[in-house]
Amino acid sequence: MVAASNTLLCIGECMVEMSPRGDGVFQQGFAGDVFNTAWYARKRMSEDWRVSFYSRVGSDALSDRFVEFTKAHGIDPSMIRRDPDRTMGLYLIELNEGERSFVYWRKHSAARMLAADPQELEHAVTGCDLVYFSGITLAILSEPDRKTLVETLEAARKLGKQVAFDPNIRPRLWQSAAEMRHWIEAGARIADIILPSFEDEQTAFGDTDPEATARRYSALGGGLVIVKNGGGDVTCLETPNAPVIRVPVRQVQQVRDTTAAGDSFNGAFLAAWGNGEPLETSVHQAADNAAEVIGSFGALA
Ligand code: ADP
Repeated sequence: MVAASNTLLCIGECMVEMSPRGDGVFQQGFAGDVFNTAWYARKRMSEDWRVSFYSRVGSDALSDRFVEFTKAHGIDPSMIRRDPDRTMGLYLIELNEGERSFVYWRKHSAARMLAADPQELEHAVTGCDLVYFSGITLAILSEPDRKTLVETLEAARKLGKQVAFDPNIRPRLWQSAAEMRHWIEAGARIADIILPSFEDEQTAFGDTDPEATARRYSALGGGLVIVKNGGGDVTCLETPNAPVIRVPVRQVQQVRDTTAAGDSFNGAFLAAWGNGEPLETSVHQAADNAAEVIGSFGALA
């Protein structure tokens, strides 16, 4: 194995997943937006990249299994801290005539404390090259910890670290729409790469089309914006006054399960980008990866 010379640090929550196998039997797995992205990035990145997951889990056997799971899949678990009082969040998938719905137990998850130690966070971020986090990462934190995370990443960016952010808008995780918009914008403002999904943005910010989403985010901090839009073109904007670049996605014959489409896109994009591929190649590789994922079942295909 080649020694890693670059590190991608993915900051967020992973949950225990219970998915139905019929007759009241559930299969236990692990998933969560940022973790899914780390997983796909690891699959696609060259071996000279280390992919680390920064989070908190419990001190129980289930959390032990999660740490083993990350190791078994080549993700560095050394930044996963153990909480003596809390454990991992959990969600259960319900199937009703083929429609999936989710029930969550995550309000008191260990991951909600992931930014509670500013020094530890700063140390981790200083040691990496590329950091990835999401609007869900921000949503699960307390107000002071959101501030800690954003300020730490802002300082890291000044040291030359690249910061990537998916707004991953989940209105139910926020107290109010105003709070949500405030923190999503704070995250985007300090990011070099912003990876929104148009449908979420249209609902939360009233954007009329993907170009409007790209221009709105670009105007905040000047980062590269890549707007996903289901089976539609990916819209990219490199700098605020540049023309947008539209990249068509591969058509998928049979969409089986769109869970983690965006996460798998992000993982493959960061991998290609980290491997030094140009923008359009990176987007193509990202969309191809997402197309494969939605053609099969489960978050971690
Ligand atoms: P999210 O999962 O975050 O809601 P999208 O639905 O926009 O994000 O999908 C993310 C990416 O997955 C898209 O940019 C595209 O590459 C791929 N994708 C999603 N749906 C389709 C589809 N119907 N056909 C082809 N690709 C798709």
